[in-house]
Amino acid sequence: MARYTDASCKLCRREGQKLFLKGERCYSNKCAIARRPYAPGQHGSQRKKISEYGLQLREKQKAKRFYGVLEKQFRKYFEMANRMSGITGVNLLQLLETRLDNVVYRLGFGTTRAEARQLVNHGHFEVNGKKVNIPSYLVKVGDVITVREKSRKSPRFKEILDVTGSKVVPNWLEADQENLQGKVVALPTREDIDLDVQEHLIVELYSK
Ligand code: SF4
Repeated sequence: MARYTDASCKLCRREGQKLFLKGERCYSNKCAIARRPYAPGQHGSQRKKISEYGLQLREKQKAKRFYGVLEKQFRKYFEMANRMSGITGVNLLQLLETRLDNVVYRLGFGTTRAEARQLVNHGHFEVNGKKVNIPSYLVKVGDVITVREKSRKSPRFKEILDVTGSKVVPNWLEADQENLQGKVVALPTREDIDLDVQEHLIVELYSK
């Protein structure tokens, strides 16, 4: 599977906002956005006039990078969102938000989405009692996500919960960290999604 392998902090600096790609470091004074609040590269600190297309592109890149999804897959989510009833931009964010790797991260079973994705890939989770190792699996209301029995003793989950224990779980999920389990109690609304993005600009970009 193709994936981004360059420095994560460059992505935040390019988008001009924290995308929380590095767990604890993002909340510390080591965060690159706090130390170098300008785009990476030789001309990164120069102010540039941004075109309408440029604005739309930046919003799309921001959402992609936040969820760790590459272009081809992101486009597929847009097409799915476009076929659904309701507001396409909100549908798009809702689809991204209900990916299993994101849900695992939101429940506090991964310190970053990248870590959550790896844990899912390595088969540590089950949904409704069945092993699921596909990070893009879309959860539904009522689904129960559990750390698999044989993974429960892994010291990794203890370490993760030490970091994420105080994290606020969004309203649309219920977390039972003691039993390493979570439930989807509703679909996320736009207000539940803490991504500072103008999703209508992404829709405009893809609708050209
Ligand atoms: Fe982004 Fe700061 Fe986290 Fe790096 S440390 S990924 S710049 S939020």
